[in-house]
Amino acid sequence: MTQITLIAATGASLPEPRQNRHLIGGTWTGSANLLDRVSPSHGVVVSRSAVGTAADTEAAIAAARAAFDDGRWSGLSAKARAAVLHRVADLIEANVERFALIETLESGKPITQSRGEIAGAADLWRYAAGLGRDITGDSHNTLGPDMLATVLKEPIGVVSIITPWNFPFWILSQKLPFALAAGCTCVVKPSEFTPSTTAMLGELLIEAGLPAGVVNIVLGTGTPVGSLMSSHPAVDMVTFTGSTAVGKLISRTASDTLKKVALELGGKNPQVIFPDADLEAAADAVVFGVYFNVGQCCNSGSRIIVHEDIAEAFIARVVDLSRQVAFGDPLSPDTQVGAIVTPEHNARIHGYVQAAVAAGARVALGGAALPVPGLGAQFYQPTVICDVTPDMAIARDEVFGPVLSVLTFRTLDQALSLVNDASYGLSAGVWSENVHTCLAFARGAQAGTIWTNTWMDGFPEVPFGGMKQSGQGREIGRQGLEEFLEIKSLVLRIGRTRAPWVKTRPA
Ligand code: NAD
Repeated sequence: MTQITLIAATGASLPEPRQNRHLIGGTWTGSANLLDRVSPSHGVVVSRSAVGTAADTEAAIAAARAAFDDGRWSGLSAKARAAVLHRVADLIEANVERFALIETLESGKPITQSRGEIAGAADLWRYAAGLGRDITGDSHNTLGPDMLATVLKEPIGVVSIITPWNFPFWILSQKLPFALAAGCTCVVKPSEFTPSTTAMLGELLIEAGLPAGVVNIVLGTGTPVGSLMSSHPAVDMVTFTGSTAVGKLISRTASDTLKKVALELGGKNPQVIFPDADLEAAADAVVFGVYFNVGQCCNSGSRIIVHEDIAEAFIARVVDLSRQVAFGDPLSPDTQVGAIVTPEHNARIHGYVQAAVAAGARVALGGAALPVPGLGAQFYQPTVICDVTPDMAIARDEVFGPVLSVLTFRTLDQALSLVNDASYGLSAGVWSENVHTCLAFARGAQAGTIWTNTWMDGFPEVPFGGMKQSGQGREIGRQGLEEFLEIKSLVLRIGRTRAPWVKTRPA
């Protein structure tokens, strides 16, 4: 018998399936084929979406190219562009409930997390709007009395944006407003599992007065849509968030035209717990870190590395808290862990757990799918796996589910070598009351973000991205905008002071 806190079906009334179409050059277009998205938690069809073809993708890229080349967006003042982005933010805020409901039904994540994601995304639009009004380049004043050089920053051009299913609206909002604030035009492809909030944003963009063709949306699958968006010569940059495997494919595809590539990929993120930490706060953050978004999170703190002296008591506390996490119907406002995105993914998660057990690990909690009364089987219990060794797949691969692996250490050096013994380098955390320990950890850990006595605190101002195979480039923050800018150096000679190069002979 499970001891996990379980919330059965709440019997909430569900909306009719939403019809999603492409947005190309300001016109909504459908397709003969439709792709149904069945809710992983509620088993009903949530949306019916057009399936993009190569021709749709070509048309969207051509529309974005034309919109960039005629300057209908890049030619506006930054103030005028910001006004549109602020209107989009207002409209997002006015539509949080509508967006959150469909995002939860398509993804299976808890409704409170969808609400937080949509409302938080509005802040990204506002931040990008302000940032776009403050694009500056260095001016070089000491090159000589008659010389001046200045660095101009210009929009990179047409940007392809390809997003995953786990935070469809948040990740789109980490990219799109920043690209728009820079003056770029875009082609967007959401995941085929969670297309609706992207299509719904298209409606808001029109309402906010964004000129036609500046943002184009093509729905559908990685091939042909995403691959053409990555290879097309009329595209100047592709920014992708998703799996490391697809990120590598995109990087290869894009290399033929040497377009700029920004990648936000997977992670196997460690939290290291020292004995002098606030252990109650650390245990709570570990539980939050692994179960947030049903563990389907690039930043999932899916492995903890605990000091041997406190391991037994700390793990007992983590197991105790894990039992109390509310698990079940994502439409309940009390639920903290909802459904897994697809049955295949649920089976994959369980495969990792079984392989770990076969290799000698011990299940301290969970360890199996658990049907939720009235909702079905596409759920996986909060799970804690102990006695994990660094060579096990569960310690190295991104499991992408509510599964925590526990390893132990004795010294800081040992902890750092466990942290860095990974192909990924997205984020890492340290828990200690000793500032020297925290700083030494932060210096030694190979990760794009180091959280110290906290986990997953993020801000629009603070850049985010990965090292190693977790990606390249940074999103949000000032650096997030700079990714969408091209640098042009302008060198000016003032007056006719340049000595002639050709030694002319008198005629
Ligand atoms: P995925 O790589 O399967 O798909 C992501 C997107 O790429 C989808 O839109 C998909 O249709 C598209 N795609 C698939 N094949 C393609 C191809 N050949 N060319 C172009 N596009 C293609 O990823 P997913 O399963 O949707 O998302 C989960 C992954 O995303 C996890 O690995 C997770 O860690 C990662 N992720 C990373 C971050 C980050 O910021 N680092 C954030 C969220 C998710």
